[in-house]
Amino acid sequence: MSFPTVAQLARDIREGKVTASAVLEEHLKRVDERESEIHAFNLVTAENARAAAVEVDRAVQAGKPLGPLAGVPIALKDNMCTRGIETTCSSKILEGWKPPYDATVVTKLREAGAVIVGKTNLDEFAMGSSTENSAFGPTRNPLDTSRVPGGSSGGSAAAVAAGFAAASLGSDTGGSIRQPAALCGLVGVKPTYGVVSRYGLVAFASSLDQIGPFTHTVEDAALVMESIAGHDPMDSTSLLQPAPSLLSVLDQGVQGMRIGRVVDMPEGSEPDVLERLDAAFAALKERGAAIVDVKLPSLQFGLTAYYLVAPAEASSNLARYDGVRYGMRVDAPDLNAMYAATRSQGFGAEVKRRIMLGTYALSAGYYDAYYGKALKVRRLIADDFAKAYQSCDVVLTPTSPSVAFPFGDKTADPLAMYLCDVFTIPTNLAGHAAMSVPFGTGAHSLPVGVQVLAPALGEATMFRVAAELERAR
Ligand code: GLN
Repeated sequence: MSFPTVAQLARDIREGKVTASAVLEEHLKRVDERESEIHAFNLVTAENARAAAVEVDRAVQAGKPLGPLAGVPIALKDNMCTRGIETTCSSKILEGWKPPYDATVVTKLREAGAVIVGKTNLDEFAMGSSTENSAFGPTRNPLDTSRVPGGSSGGSAAAVAAGFAAASLGSDTGGSIRQPAALCGLVGVKPTYGVVSRYGLVAFASSLDQIGPFTHTVEDAALVMESIAGHDPMDSTSLLQPAPSLLSVLDQGVQGMRIGRVVDMPEGSEPDVLERLDAAFAALKERGAAIVDVKLPSLQFGLTAYYLVAPAEASSNLARYDGVRYGMRVDAPDLNAMYAATRSQGFGAEVKRRIMLGTYALSAGYYDAYYGKALKVRRLIADDFAKAYQSCDVVLTPTSPSVAFPFGDKTADPLAMYLCDVFTIPTNLAGHAAMSVPFGTGAHSLPVGVQVLAPALGEATMFRVAAELERAR
């Protein structure tokens, strides 16, 4: 299956070779054909999309200036606020909630001319690695519908892999863009913390969350990144930086670059995945890069630290869903009973597990031993990376230890599910940039992703390496 890229569509629409409306109808036709099987979307906003496409077509006709994404169909993870359009986080507790404002990324996409086609399914509140934790049923991997698309942004990944949208946005707190990108054969980017505004992204773990794109190509990812990144006064953690210039670096190659290979990498990856990683190192070496060994001794503690920090923040962020201010309410004789009934019925099992873990880690008497200790590990991981980046420009690891797995494979054992993110989580803790690039196939001929890790604000270097890997594939 091969679908037109963002770059191609934007060019053809701008040149009048095809109308934005025709492009949209092609995508909606594929939705009609396969969505009942895939379940990528919580909501398809076909009518709004048609109106937006007509507007682009009028602008083309009138010779008006067009945004870089004019007429390109793009899907949004259903944890990004869209004014007047239901935003559920795939949770019963938010069912029916219509935000009174747009997330900054939504505004920016519209300004760039994108046509928003719908809101995609996710693990409830972005907690999970398979999209099986959605309150509205799982999403299927378009490449093999007996398997998961990854998570938590599984709907966003599936929407692009199935040709329902040319690109989509996801959010990545511990790997939720990169892992589904790897499992669906796509490019997925987790920007440096603060590069893309979080205003209007429903918070999971605020010190880790970042929004980024899913696309078929590295060039497309650069295009979308350039449109959504940049300082936003509405997000106090937004960096005082313009959007990085990425399209201009894609052809620069890797001659003279130093690529880090982690000598003390956590074990447990499938042999095919490691074989693809070796092939990636070999390809970059052949193209003029030097491979250097680096040590990241704290990497192995990343998962543990994350499962204290992220649930701690989540337990606080999710306290606002009390049956008063948002979404559903379960009536009960008094206020406390109403809170308890609403939260008991509104949240799914994984969300409750995180709230309990986080509340425990933050409670008096345990705070220092758990949350405080996790923050120290977080610091050690950042220090390890800082040391590694003294001798290399980027680090390569697998994105996911395995290819897409069958439904139900890991649902009985939360720890097995958590281990999916062993390679992606450390970047979030450090606040650095990382992306997944498809690099061939592994077991069952399913796609394998290679992860390119870069220091904070290292997006340009990271995209150079990713573009070279794509050419070498
Ligand atoms: N799978 C991880 C978790 O369940 C990461 C999720 C994410 O990045 N949103 O927390």
